[in-house]
Amino acid sequence: MYPKLILQKGRERPVLLGHPWIFSGAVLTGPQASEGDIVAVCDHKQQLLAHGFYSPASQIRCRLFDFSSQTSARFGDDYWKHRILQALALRRPWFDPEHTNAYRLMHAEGDRMPGVIADAYDQSVVVQLLIRGSERLLPILASTLNEAGFKHLYLKQKSITRHIEGLQQESGWLTPPPPIYPITIREHDCLFEVDPVGGQKTGFFLDQRENRWLVGQYSQKRRVLNAFSYTGGFSVYALKGGATSVDSVDSSQPAIDQAQHNAQLNNLQKNHRTITADCFDFLKQSKPSEYDMMILDPPAFAKKASAVPNALRGYKELNLEAMRKIAPGGLLFSFSCSQAIDPLLFRKMLFGAAVDARRQVRLLHYLGQPADHPVDIGHPEGEYLKGWLMAVD
Ligand code: SAH
Repeated sequence: MYPKLILQKGRERPVLLGHPWIFSGAVLTGPQASEGDIVAVCDHKQQLLAHGFYSPASQIRCRLFDFSSQTSARFGDDYWKHRILQALALRRPWFDPEHTNAYRLMHAEGDRMPGVIADAYDQSVVVQLLIRGSERLLPILASTLNEAGFKHLYLKQKSITRHIEGLQQESGWLTPPPPIYPITIREHDCLFEVDPVGGQKTGFFLDQRENRWLVGQYSQKRRVLNAFSYTGGFSVYALKGGATSVDSVDSSQPAIDQAQHNAQLNNLQKNHRTITADCFDFLKQSKPSEYDMMILDPPAFAKKASAVPNALRGYKELNLEAMRKIAPGGLLFSFSCSQAIDPLLFRKMLFGAAVDARRQVRLLHYLGQPADHPVDIGHPEGEYLKGWLMAVD
């Protein structure tokens, strides 16, 4: 039996419904355990409910990965190897590496592996371990991924979470790096260079893959603005889809340089322009009707619930300016990747912007995260990426 974390009376219900987080306020007595230890979560009558990783210093005191109530359960290497292979087996049949060889292999709570993010880039995997409990899985992760045919493994640790969660591992290659670096990946037959070491997140925003494809379907003969372009993901698809021009705008110079290079890699540089600028300023200075397609994919403005009001003001300002400026009959792709802003709140913000812009706005497609970023049905917070394709008349 693992050390017991006993819940306050009445606080077992979310666990019974499959919610994977135990907040500090729900704990009656904490376990005799250290950061990252596996603990047994019990109701106030000491009935076993689930197992999770213990984080004594975090608001989320325990992150659950197993909801079976068998007291004999053991979570050794065999258990984790099976879980890792299950995550791989779910995704691999979906992707033909001839066309797409970059996708998310493990998506934390979405795979009931809290704190584990793993993205495959061709034969390399970039792993982020966000809590001490998941950090302890590194040896079994490394050996299982290697057996599954991935030759190169890079561990990318975030400095902020390192501080809060007491992480011990440094970022670095755990195998020799790939012989050709940066890594060139294929996504729906588009080519991109990915730099996990110097790039943002694990190197590429794989969660926008299917939305990028959709942009390609709608971009023919359109003058496109890709705001917050990063390395030009949406831009390459828009150019390939027949856009007459594409402007990629981002405040990061390395991202902009890479965007230019990615357009060249696909032989699509002819109608591509890159601009290093703040997107709020850029949109304000843009001329009315200069673009008939716009993509707004800003970073998460609300990293926590208390930041939501300010974040909403930022989203509204951005969308209002875009709705004011876009040419009649324009197509606006607008996203938010803030977990704290739920889909309904995002839609209300768009409604407010449409009213203030005095334009007719029609919702065409709801846009979310792709299947390799699954949401556990008991964990609505996992649905972080949301967006709409709108027609603005
Ligand atoms: N759409 C991209 C991912 C965008 S990530 C893709 O499909 O790959 C968000 C980007 O916004 C980052 O590249 C970051 O550098 C940029 N960014 C953040 N704040 C910005 C601002 N105020 N103006 C311009 N770019 C900004």
